[in-house]
Amino acid sequence: MTLVDRASTFLARTAVVDPTASYTYSQLLDRSAKVATTLLAGQTDLKEDRIAFLVPPSFGYVALQWGIWRAGGIAVPLCTKHPTPSLRYVIEDTQASAVIYAEEFEAVLSPLFDTVSTRFLRTEDFGTETSPLPDLESDRRAMILYTSGTTGRPKGVVTTHANIEAQITALFDAWQWSQDDRILNILPLHHVHGIINVLSCALWSGACCVFLPRFSERAVLDVFRRGEVNVFMAVPTIYYKLIAYYDVLTEVEQEAIRSALRGFRLMVSGSAALPVSVLEQWRTISGHTLLERYGMTEIGMAISNPYAGERRPGYIGQPLPGVDVRLADDGEIQVRGPSVFLEYWARPDATAESFTPDGYFHTGDIAVYEQGAYRILGRNSVDIIKSGGYKISALEIEEVLRTYPGIRECGVVGLPDPEWGEVIGASLITDSGTLDLDQLTDWLRERLPGYKLPRRYIFQDELPRNVMGKVTKQELKQAFA
Ligand code: ATP
Ligand code: MG
Repeated sequence: MTLVDRASTFLARTAVVDPTASYTYSQLLDRSAKVATTLLAGQTDLKEDRIAFLVPPSFGYVALQWGIWRAGGIAVPLCTKHPTPSLRYVIEDTQASAVIYAEEFEAVLSPLFDTVSTRFLRTEDFGTETSPLPDLESDRRAMILYTSGTTGRPKGVVTTHANIEAQITALFDAWQWSQDDRILNILPLHHVHGIINVLSCALWSGACCVFLPRFSERAVLDVFRRGEVNVFMAVPTIYYKLIAYYDVLTEVEQEAIRSALRGFRLMVSGSAALPVSVLEQWRTISGHTLLERYGMTEIGMAISNPYAGERRPGYIGQPLPGVDVRLADDGEIQVRGPSVFLEYWARPDATAESFTPDGYFHTGDIAVYEQGAYRILGRNSVDIIKSGGYKISALEIEEVLRTYPGIRECGVVGLPDPEWGEVIGASLITDSGTLDLDQLTDWLRERLPGYKLPRRYIFQDELPRNVMGKVTKQELKQAFA
């Protein structure tokens, strides 16, 4: 069963609320059939043609995504924050046969009009007719999402309709979605977090997805305060920003937000490690222990804290239903199951290398399993620092540093060193822009063994991050040069 099939059971319900209007499932089916008909232009099936699209989070976005699927194409959502060269990369890499865009993106795309061989279509160019649409097999390729590019060039991740369904149903069951849910989406819709966990889970459930025209702390807290939604999902940096904004509101405003948040059913964090300090501050404000989960573009969500039951700070919980998770000897998380992607687009070698002989996907993330829950130590490539024969988790040191008074945020990396292999470098973002490092070192000595002490420090105004809010550690390493 696909999202589209399920929609016919929710026809009169509201599917999407966007800045302009509310739309029912019936309207979504109707609009996406018209999109599919226009794209088909007389053919019977797009047969996995890649169709890229660049539109803001809106009803129009969902109608396009579904329309591409219903015409038999592969949906390639583009990032609304990307500059022209990044858009060119995705359009060329996927050899998209068409690029559909909303007017506001004309300027960023126009340099490509004469230099990329594809068709560019404006969203207004879609017709009003509907024709018969192809039957879709579940093993058909449905979507190509690019990874966040945190560790290198983004890779195109191909998922089938069956993969998408498995990714959705794991969360539908585990997080007890229902058709009464209303979720606010503030995440970009070119990435697994927004597309699967928020939008597609909502639409699978017959629930309603509310879009904001653009993110601002004020706008999000206003939606909360008005009691318009009962589910929210975000990356840790968003919670960090909401906390900072909340902190300077008046007591009256704070109280209104606090009491509205008590009515929420579920608040989730993921896509990067959730600092324990953020979890605790958000709990004080909202009364909710954020549900932290772990996943990737390649596998959807794999490990999650429980919906009911203990959510242990600093831990990501247990494998989701239907997801087969194991730890390799070196601590790497390996994942198998129907939610795991089909292939990296046009990279057969990368695809082959990323699976074990018995079919598990190499996540490249290192974890430990302690008292019934997984804890992430970091990415093997950048967060596991190899110093003097030790393997040290950058995330663990960051957690300790964050508890030091005056340190607002920090990033820890391994820096090449002739004697130790690597030494630990820490970038600090502090309230005053600096800090007494001797005092900090004395304080750290009481909490960490000597080999885990940072040897080099820099002070920054902010950490380098990508559009998903993830710290780009290769870039951070260069800041020490
Ligand atoms: P690229 O693969 O291009 O370097 P990326 O790995 O950041 O980018 P995504 O697929 O968006 O691309 O992110 C998946 C990664 O995010 C995981 O491999 C993991 O390192 C990290 N991650 C996700 N959730 C968590 C979490 N709860 N705690 C720690 N890390 C997490
Ligand atoms: Mg990755």
